[in-house]
Amino acid sequence: MDKNELVNELARRRGFLWPAFELYGGAAGFYDYGPLGAPLKRRIEDIWRQYFVISEGFAEIEAPTIGVEGIYQASGHLSGFSDPLTSCKECKEVYRADHLIKHIIEVPDALSNGEIYKCIQENEIGCPECGGELSQVYEFNLMFKTMIGPGNKMTGYLRPETAQGMFINFPRLLRYFRDSLPFAAVQIGKSFRNEISPRQGVIRLREFTQAEAEIFIDPRDKSHPRFAEVADIKMKFYSQAAQERGEAEEMTFGEAVEKAIVAHQALAYYVARTYQFLLAVGVAPDKLRFRQHKVDEMAHYAADCWDAEVFLDRLGWIEIVGVADRTDYDLKAHAEASKVNLSVFMHYDQPVKRRKMVVKPNFKALGPRFKAKAKAVGEALKALSKEELEASNTVRVTVDGETIEIDPTLFSFESVEEEIRGEEVVPHVIEPSFGIDRIIYTVLDHSFYADEVDGETRAVLRFLPAVAPIEVAVLPLMDRKELSDPAKAILQELRTRGMRVDYDTSGSIGRRYRRNDEIGTPFAVTVDYDTLEQGTVTIRDRDSMAQVKVPRWQIADKLTAMLSGLLKFQDAGDLVLPSKKE
Ligand code: AMP
Repeated sequence: MDKNELVNELARRRGFLWPAFELYGGAAGFYDYGPLGAPLKRRIEDIWRQYFVISEGFAEIEAPTIGVEGIYQASGHLSGFSDPLTSCKECKEVYRADHLIKHIIEVPDALSNGEIYKCIQENEIGCPECGGELSQVYEFNLMFKTMIGPGNKMTGYLRPETAQGMFINFPRLLRYFRDSLPFAAVQIGKSFRNEISPRQGVIRLREFTQAEAEIFIDPRDKSHPRFAEVADIKMKFYSQAAQERGEAEEMTFGEAVEKAIVAHQALAYYVARTYQFLLAVGVAPDKLRFRQHKVDEMAHYAADCWDAEVFLDRLGWIEIVGVADRTDYDLKAHAEASKVNLSVFMHYDQPVKRRKMVVKPNFKALGPRFKAKAKAVGEALKALSKEELEASNTVRVTVDGETIEIDPTLFSFESVEEEIRGEEVVPHVIEPSFGIDRIIYTVLDHSFYADEVDGETRAVLRFLPAVAPIEVAVLPLMDRKELSDPAKAILQELRTRGMRVDYDTSGSIGRRYRRNDEIGTPFAVTVDYDTLEQGTVTIRDRDSMAQVKVPRWQIADKLTAMLSGLLKFQDAGDLVLPSKKE
């Protein structure tokens, strides 16, 4: 078994990830998070909240997962959210056509369907299942369609991304943030894509969890007030130029912005926050890079886009997060479709004074000429600009549907000073878009390792304590009342303190340690006869397998400090060398 198989097998066997609906034959692209997977997911989402809600002051919202048709008409999903499909003429199996040529063309997204088909033909690519001839390439829309209410009157779609919830609530969000920029809203929730061939576990699902932030910024100023906090962080940038050379380039975020490798501070700041978040949940830094979209790969509206890519065994480099400057594309599209103004009036710090020429109707002359209509004619003249009036020799205005020709002696121009307090702007959007399931799989893959202990393979998930679904295992040395009673008292004490604790009496102590290593439990507390005689317990560290003895009464405080990283394991108590055979 390779690592990919080992991780998937462990995830299934120990209750992290289960293929869904197994009882009824299953369906590709759907997974259940089991008793260990669900808390792992929740903890990763909570760290995301720490980074992208609490620390930034962003607002979390929760919109319906079904959307009405108008949203997806405006967003472009109805017409363009599709993947190229090809099917085998023999066995009828269907494939993502661009995936079949990935080994020939690194970024096939930029090719038309005709070009992909040509590439398939030229390289004599046949059906991966049976070798049969493949069909022409055609588009397949990935949205799940449904009906809202009885009578087939209203079409709905399961949302293909969470982002639209923030865009269509823009006017209310703007009011919530007291009509000023920048502000941001986020959503963590399910998205649905009827993927053509979801064959890679939770990497490509038909129902998956996204965490997206839409950060609305003033397009006139793309700096970031907190950029200094991330400017010195070093990271591997796989820029467009670096991709030409074939090697990512390490530099600080400050340098990346200075050299215009990342378009501006606002985008670079969120790439940096993404980087910090990914490390905080346990993505391995040496298997992480940020790749800039190539010019022909970038969405036409995007000014710049960086994908966080991770290296996974067997699968290679996979995108897990995209961070893009989407400019004003989304808001403009929704403003046009909904006929609602989605711009923001931005006040200047100081009003700006400006002289401008205005039209001054000659009411003394207009009165006798137009009688009762004179006022309306004067107002219509005032509504015209100097440029409009000078553009043609004959000036015409329309009053009550009647076109009236105006003699140039009936008005003059006047220079007035006006005070400008601000201007209308359509915000630009920075969007970090996270695929939570892919991050979870990455954390499993990057934390997994196997070593040899006493001639046996020991599989370990080296989870950071902050994401571990079980933080502490409480293990009585033997399942005897004199040991299990004090062990249960410790279990309850730790749970009351908010720790995620498991209690296990089945099998030898060595087997129980292995079981907890395999599910990534950072610490195991063993209750033995020393607990009864000397009032001590041992704490075992998953990674080093070393053990320390700690007074029973200190256990909750010490574990709390160790789990939060304030206390190092080796400083927690007297080191007891691990017995050779556990
Ligand atoms: P996208 O809107 O396609 O840029 O997707 C944003 C993020 O969602 C990606 O970086 C992926 O991590 C994740 N994602 C997209 N499609 C899927 C899928 N079918 N299954 C699981 N995660 C996905």
